[in-house]
Amino acid sequence: MTILVVGSVAYDGLETPFGKKERILGGAATHFSASASFFAPVQLVGVVGGDFDEKELDFLKRRGVDLAGLQIQKEGKTFFWKGKYGYDLNEAQTLDTQLNVFAEFNPALPENFRSASHIFLANIDPELQVKVLKQVQKPKLVAMDTMNFWIQGKRKELLNTLRHADCLLVNESEARQLTGEYNLTKAFKKIRSWGPKILVVKQGEYGAMLFADDFVFSAPGYPLEDLKDPTGAGDSFAGGFIGFLAKKNAPLTEENLKHAVVCGSTMASFQVEDFGLERMRTLTKKEIQERFQAFKKLSHFEETLIL
Ligand code: AMP
Repeated sequence: MTILVVGSVAYDGLETPFGKKERILGGAATHFSASASFFAPVQLVGVVGGDFDEKELDFLKRRGVDLAGLQIQKEGKTFFWKGKYGYDLNEAQTLDTQLNVFAEFNPALPENFRSASHIFLANIDPELQVKVLKQVQKPKLVAMDTMNFWIQGKRKELLNTLRHADCLLVNESEARQLTGEYNLTKAFKKIRSWGPKILVVKQGEYGAMLFADDFVFSAPGYPLEDLKDPTGAGDSFAGGFIGFLAKKNAPLTEENLKHAVVCGSTMASFQVEDFGLERMRTLTKKEIQERFQAFKKLSHFEETLIL
């Protein structure tokens, strides 16, 4: 199975209580690909400007990520996002968003990208997300992300993209903002009526909840000692979640979806250990497997209750 992702490839300026970076590699599609490539082949669709140092993506190439869908617009500038986090690391404050080459981007998928089985519409303009969907043949799963920037700025277009998605992955505050519902069960019902049959609500350090028609599942966040930068946690989560489903060509059963959520939480827990994509460059499959097991231990308990 192959995963296709469309989303931002970016330079980020980041400030967290643990340090500051003026301009480092970031972007939703970049973070997603780094994570998902541990599980299945990934094809990336996006655009960068003439200022982009392509060598930065060498580690993704080594991981087998197909970059044939990454356009380079020599005369333009790469997408730039600047964000800041206080001690509540669950919520980024956006200081600057420069769409640059993404403002005029018209994705044209290479022929071999059109038959991808699993699609992730990472955080980007919902109109672009739909343009990509129109070019793929018959995916088994369409999952998508979005953020406040698009919920506020392109709500109508976003609702249109949602009609085509099987699964929506968003932060808690985004789920509330999108639906106008504080209660997440009610938020899921509304989202369900718009299209997606699965909702994953990412809750930062507290983990994630998955809502489906007949069950709800909650996975904790991993209690980390060293945490430096939460940027990209959501995309790494999506990479583990979709990566697992693609690797196993897994039908969307309760068991598989639970397993996928824990894979997502596992990948996100590594992502936040360092700035940008640094941790993903050194991560090994063995480390992923060990932390997955640690997750199991974290929330496993005996089932009997004697009163
Ligand atoms: P997250 O996983 O939600 O922390 O996503 C982090 C990435 O999203 C950063 O590396 C940013 O470059 C990217 N990003 C921030 N704002 C936007 C936006 N409006 N559209 C697309 N990508 C964005």
